[in-house]
Amino acid sequence: MTERPDRTRPATLSDASLAVHAGIQVDSTKALRTPLVMANSYLLPEDPSEISWSATAPGLYTRNTGVNQQALQDKLAALEGGEDAVALASGVAALHAVFFTHVRVGDHVVVSDVTYEATWRLWTELLPQRYGIEATFVDITDHDAVRAAMRPNTRLVCVEAMANPTTQVTDVAAIADIAHGAGAILMVDSTYTPPPCYRPLRDGADLVVHSLTKYINGHGDAMGGAVIGRHELIEPIKADAMVDVGGIISPFNAWQIQRGSVTLPLRMRQHLASAQAIAELLADDPRVAYIYYPGLPSHPQHELAARQFDGAFGGMMAFAVDGGPDVQNRFVANLRLITSGFSLGHDDSLIVHTGTEGGRVSTYPEPFRRLGHLRLSVGLEDTHDLLADLRAALDATFR
Ligand SMILES: *Cc1c(COP(=O)(O)O)cnc(C)c1O
Repeated sequence: MTERPDRTRPATLSDASLAVHAGIQVDSTKALRTPLVMANSYLLPEDPSEISWSATAPGLYTRNTGVNQQALQDKLAALEGGEDAVALASGVAALHAVFFTHVRVGDHVVVSDVTYEATWRLWTELLPQRYGIEATFVDITDHDAVRAAMRPNTRLVCVEAMANPTTQVTDVAAIADIAHGAGAILMVDSTYTPPPCYRPLRDGADLVVHSLTKYINGHGDAMGGAVIGRHELIEPIKADAMVDVGGIISPFNAWQIQRGSVTLPLRMRQHLASAQAIAELLADDPRVAYIYYPGLPSHPQHELAARQFDGAFGGMMAFAVDGGPDVQNRFVANLRLITSGFSLGHDDSLIVHTGTEGGRVSTYPEPFRRLGHLRLSVGLEDTHDLLADLRAALDATFR
């Protein structure tokens, strides 16, 4: 299979056009859509000594990269403005792949103390306990604290552009300067802010991680993860975490995610517009105890978010209604359109109630620790229907 010959693109192509055209492959059938190739093995050349068993391109064995994985990787690299990309089985597999490949015994890492659950567990439990790699958790908005946490053996700084679940925003350019000044690389989990909202590589990040399960697939029907960055940093991830550890993405999931990603820029526009309207509604309602959405002037990093994301504040927010856990649960039960479920970035709006227990909760802002929080992923339903659902659930809860 080859890239479509008419796909030589002007460098200035916009996001919407890239999302439609980047990475499309054609085979001898000349089908206009990249065919789904489920084969796990490929015809070898007559002289097998010509091949490398650790190759990281299609044409050998699917754990070494499949056709659909390659097409997805090409598209993700184009969308993030990166040299190279690797697609893996899940977002967590992508995070682990970065840590496993680029950090070793004797190294030290600096991690934001507001971070996705699995990142927290990897750096509080699994990697320190099993491999003796030291991690320091810091308030990533306190740049002096980040500077002070850096050591001669600090290899990696690990942040989220907009953190799950509090929506805390990291100043990526400033943290990149600190990391590079100390000889470390910066990894940015940008799952909450997919392109076109943000491209961390432009602000000096070395590696960008995405849970493809979320916005990039966008339809709640496939899992995947990706790492994007310079070839010299991505190639070792392919060789170590993909070929040798086997965190490969299934061809079907790669095909499905590539299909979902075609409409990413279009979908993000709707997510953003509805999220802003919903955040404003909740901020104005006295029955809502607090709300964190970077598009609200009350958000602690509103100005940074406006600058860094160029006004694209994302589709995620965290809030609580007035009252204890029972009231939060009652409010969720009273929603008719918004669905109670994990994950985010899907076409359907999803809400999760998280309590006040757990180690990482201790690093959240005060109202999160006191009341717990509702994490809302604003979907693609009509904005007015979503507003009406939230209003009706508030009325039913506080009747
Ligand atoms: C969901 C998520 C992940 C993990 O992705 P999976 O595809 O569920 O493994 C990583 N980081 C963030 C910020 C996420 O929201």
